[in-house]
Amino acid sequence: MKLHWRILLALVAGVAVGGWFQTSLDAPPWVGLDVADAPDGVRVTAVEAGSPADRAGLERGDVLASVSRDQGDEASRRALRSPADLASVLEETGLGEVRWLEFGSARDPVPVTVVMEPGCERARWIEPFAFFADIFLALLKMLIVPIILTSIITGVTGVGTGRDLRRMGLKTFAYYVLTSLLAVVIGQVLVNIVSPGSGAALGLRPSDKFEEVAGQSFWDVIKRMIPTNVFDAFSDNGAMLQVIFFALLFGYFITQVSDSHRERLSSFFEAAFEVMMKMAEFVLGLIPYGVFVLLVKVVGETGFGLFRPLGLYMAVVAGGLLFHALLTLPTLLKLGGVSPLGWAKAMGPALMTAFSTSSSSMTLPVTLETVEKRGRVSNKTTSFVLPLGATINMDGTALYECVGVIFLAQYYEGVSDFPLTIGVQVQVVAMALLASVGAAGIPSAGLVMMLTILGALGLPVEGAALLLAVDRPLDMLRTVVNVWSDSCGAALIARTEGERPLVEEGVVVDTG
Ligand code: ASP
Repeated sequence: MKLHWRILLALVAGVAVGGWFQTSLDAPPWVGLDVADAPDGVRVTAVEAGSPADRAGLERGDVLASVSRDQGDEASRRALRSPADLASVLEETGLGEVRWLEFGSARDPVPVTVVMEPGCERARWIEPFAFFADIFLALLKMLIVPIILTSIITGVTGVGTGRDLRRMGLKTFAYYVLTSLLAVVIGQVLVNIVSPGSGAALGLRPSDKFEEVAGQSFWDVIKRMIPTNVFDAFSDNGAMLQVIFFALLFGYFITQVSDSHRERLSSFFEAAFEVMMKMAEFVLGLIPYGVFVLLVKVVGETGFGLFRPLGLYMAVVAGGLLFHALLTLPTLLKLGGVSPLGWAKAMGPALMTAFSTSSSSMTLPVTLETVEKRGRVSNKTTSFVLPLGATINMDGTALYECVGVIFLAQYYEGVSDFPLTIGVQVQVVAMALLASVGAAGIPSAGLVMMLTILGALGLPVEGAALLLAVDRPLDMLRTVVNVWSDSCGAALIARTEGERPLVEEGVVVDTG
């Protein structure tokens, strides 16, 4: 069976089993908390040590003022006037759904999250699934540093040293950076408008390690990009920017040493990159199982409430990708004198292969063939622009990274006061760009990279696991956009080199 069908099957099975846990296994409401009447809400009179109430930071004497499902949404906020109110809220919650209790004064509410009591029957059943979900995540995280390192070094050494190549290299890089940046910005605008993560009931545990991020200015981030010790950077999944910075420099200077060294090192990193791709393929082959255990865990704990925000998130990614593929890139083609419609028609086979394999690298042979034979771009241009593009130019991935990270940040902003400031938004743009450069052209590589951005922001990587459940269709779409952008780049760069792509078909808009 094709991988995407197996993933779909795993998704359905995971939702079914999780849903069954959710509806038929007992889970007592939020326990470990005794409350009494207070003038402005209910007062906490006792908190059992180690209980969810304790972990959420509630203390004796706190006043719970209200409960809301959707933060900032007055309509769904309910005042807590008596202990009976609280009991009925918890009853309804059934521990599946996440709600926010707000304590402190009504004007200055502090949210805490209602989570499942770990000792209950349902939690016990979910535990083994959570265990395998964690193992799966650890396998993904294991791949991050070596993949970034080898993929970037291989990409950069591929640029070569000759003067011609230099010139073409600069143009190519300029194109990559421009289009990826446009893609990220589109994603960012959309995700901020739609705001799919705000107040979403995703059932992820709140976290409180955000102080570090909050204090960082843009310049701090720039400064932190330079590792003071590369081995420190390699040993920390949150230090992705440092690894990328080092890899870019290292790759560049490989091209500056004597031929024998250069050849040896480039072929070494190429070989290492291929091994990493094989390893990644192996780990990613486990995705159907990963999706299954994750969904059992998440649906079992949280219920079905999370599908609405997830659906919204998917719609934002898909909408952004469509916008970029149908408007931004065609506009660039038009400016460069290539007919967008003609070019899209010619690129059909490559785009279709990208859609069905979810891998720019696997599609590369088809892309080369298509751009040369159907697009009539010279081999000199394609053999330079396309292999490089397949590893480092990923517009679709860049957009997706940005939307995914901000979606989760919006969620954590609601449940645990994550400071989603302009500074953080700028950081996300920069990191999404770099992550798209570092992502390998294989299925779900973008998701692996997302773990590093989350890590760098201090956000729990558990969030990415949730996105994994619905990743495949988005992966297919973003891979099409990645390959489409590579092919548009080839056409445009061919034009600037004096070539006339597509000209035999007579569809080129020749501006002379
Ligand atoms: N699958 C994508 C590609 O190969 C990378 C990603 O996961 O975003 O282009």
